[in-house]
Amino acid sequence: MKNPKKILIANRGVIAIRALRAAKELGYQVASVYSTVDKDQKHLKLSDEAICIGPAASKESYLNEAAIISAAELVGADAIYPGFGFLAENASFAEKCKESGFEFIGPDPKVIDVMGDKIKAKELIESLGVPTVPGYTGQIQSQNQIENIVEEIGYPVIVKASSGGGGKGMRVVYDKSELWDSIIGAQNEAKLAFGNDEVFIEKYLKKPRHIEIQIFGDGKGKVVHLYSRDCSLQRKYQKIVEEAPAKNLNQEKLDEIQNICVKACSELNYKGAGTLEFLYENNEFFFIEMNTRIQVEHTVTEMITGVDLVQAQLLLALEDKFDLDQEKLKINGHAMQCRINAEDAETFIPSPGEITRVHRPGGYHVRFESQIYSGYKVPSNYDSLIAEVIVKDGDRRNTINKMRMALTELVIEGIETNQALHLKILEDKGFQNIDYYIKYLEEELIK
Ligand code: ADP
Repeated sequence: MKNPKKILIANRGVIAIRALRAAKELGYQVASVYSTVDKDQKHLKLSDEAICIGPAASKESYLNEAAIISAAELVGADAIYPGFGFLAENASFAEKCKESGFEFIGPDPKVIDVMGDKIKAKELIESLGVPTVPGYTGQIQSQNQIENIVEEIGYPVIVKASSGGGGKGMRVVYDKSELWDSIIGAQNEAKLAFGNDEVFIEKYLKKPRHIEIQIFGDGKGKVVHLYSRDCSLQRKYQKIVEEAPAKNLNQEKLDEIQNICVKACSELNYKGAGTLEFLYENNEFFFIEMNTRIQVEHTVTEMITGVDLVQAQLLLALEDKFDLDQEKLKINGHAMQCRINAEDAETFIPSPGEITRVHRPGGYHVRFESQIYSGYKVPSNYDSLIAEVIVKDGDRRNTINKMRMALTELVIEGIETNQALHLKILEDKGFQNIDYYIKYLEEELIK
């Protein structure tokens, strides 16, 4: 590899500018790709090179593997940074990067492949000693067979697509009379959405919290955890507010789960950043899935540990450098992130268009991760996430106060955002007392 090394960022939006900053700070050259509708993205102006890879439709641009590999060849990149979404968890793309001589910044394609299949992931993780949600991952042979199995598990259950993601392809079943139709429906939906009709069944937990563990491995068996995050404030299975560390739960069990995650990922020789997601109910943790990439909420972990996770990813991939030491990783304070989406705060209808004015919040331990600027046009083609407001303070109560201040200061004009919803969440007693669960927002806060 030459010096300075060159990284191709194969993404857009919030994570593209985050990765660009991390790479530039480390002295790397950066090349970026964009679709025609994204030609005015801020990170492109800060990149050494920018290559157009196709039209607005993701399939023809950010999901276009050949176009991205060609761009990497054209600029002479050493490594490809996938970020989150798009091709970040696509094992065959990771493999193609390797075959074409580029370092894919992420774990081994085989690990991505297993974890991308929820059935395989669940079976593997269970075999490594991690507790999972009770359920059935075997073959679905007949209506009778499956009705008997679900009778054993007990209603309600959730039917999930093995290749599902982004909260899609899941159906809750409360009663035997709905079971078979739900399975067939889920299979058809999964086939259409993911090209794979495999589904499995889990006990449906009624009021769980979503707690996840951030891990980081050197790819040779050394793995550390960077503690927990609480991402229970969700809408339609999408996270809205995230914080670290998770509080108001059984600390002993949490410590135990963190160590179990480290052990399991060490057995997998896990490389880079990864997250094991759990549902937490009645003092028990149940694994649901592993994300083999950086996550939107990685920022809150950075705030409490002082580790720049994106730089750690780059240094491991490009320099084979890994200096995370469990003994030295300590929690400092409490961090929270509010995802700012371009959508109406009440109807949740997407609100693309031109942002006429932006004022970013500031202050001690206030962070604003975003590509937006006055005059930026939010395209209608992609995810509605346009910014992340992240704050840290000594304890959770002060962190909430700091977030309230930051959101009050934030101005985004010209489009609708969910800023007002966040302020409502921060005022809620249930939220303040950590007395909420994954459906709390929909069932109690905004019903
Ligand atoms: P995806 O990959 O689509 O994000 P997950 O398996 O991570 O799917 O589940 C997404 C969300 O769905 C979880 O954060 C949780 O809110 C809910 N969920 C998943 N499994 C269950 C379950 N067994 N019981 C209750 N809720 C669940």
